[in-house]
Amino acid sequence: MRVLLVEDDKIIADDIVGALRDSGFVVDYAADGEAAWFLGDTEPYDAIVLDLGLPRLDGLSVLKRWRAAGQLTPVLILSARGSWMERVDGIEAGADDYLPKPFQVPELIARLRALIRRAAGMAQPVMRAGDLVVDTRRMTILNAGQPVKVTPLEFRLVDYLVHNGDRAVSTGELAEHLHGIDGSSDTNAIEAMISRLRRKLGPGVIETRRGFGYVIGKEG
Ligand code: CA
Repeated sequence: MRVLLVEDDKIIADDIVGALRDSGFVVDYAADGEAAWFLGDTEPYDAIVLDLGLPRLDGLSVLKRWRAAGQLTPVLILSARGSWMERVDGIEAGADDYLPKPFQVPELIARLRALIRRAAGMAQPVMRAGDLVVDTRRMTILNAGQPVKVTPLEFRLVDYLVHNGDRAVSTGELAEHLHGIDGSSDTNAIEAMISRLRRKLGPGVIETRRGFGYVIGKEG
């Protein structure tokens, strides 16, 4: 899952970016409102963490611009402690969740995962698709009860396909969601990874929908 973090406080930002990456997220980072608005408008994120007090363009204005442009990505806002008015404004501007500062990073990560799951219509942190059980907290995969050894990148690919249910996902979209802004968008590398995963998961788990992309079907 690919996340945009918008936070002008470098110390807080470094802390969050490190923890998100350790938890398997791909993270892009913006330190001001203008950069945030641009990235959120041009890059496909699965969720956005948005601080409200930002230089150049405040977080609330950024959020309003995204929503006015039809951008529906789940947004979690970070608000000043005790500022309930800020939170009300944020939610009315289209935020999906909020955390008052200071917060514990594990809570931020748990809330982000819940937001991404809800956007995919799933309520549980452990997701099932056919014989696969994908645990988004532990970053583990079971196939018919057997643990499957996967790299962090392979886990992200399986996780993204399972989150998308019956919708076929193209190699281009996979490349965009598995790598950050300065990462590779090489679709050949994605296809090679699909082949490796098929060897690990066995035939029939990752289906090809010709002309559309890949699906991990509920039928398994
Ligand atoms: Ca700030």
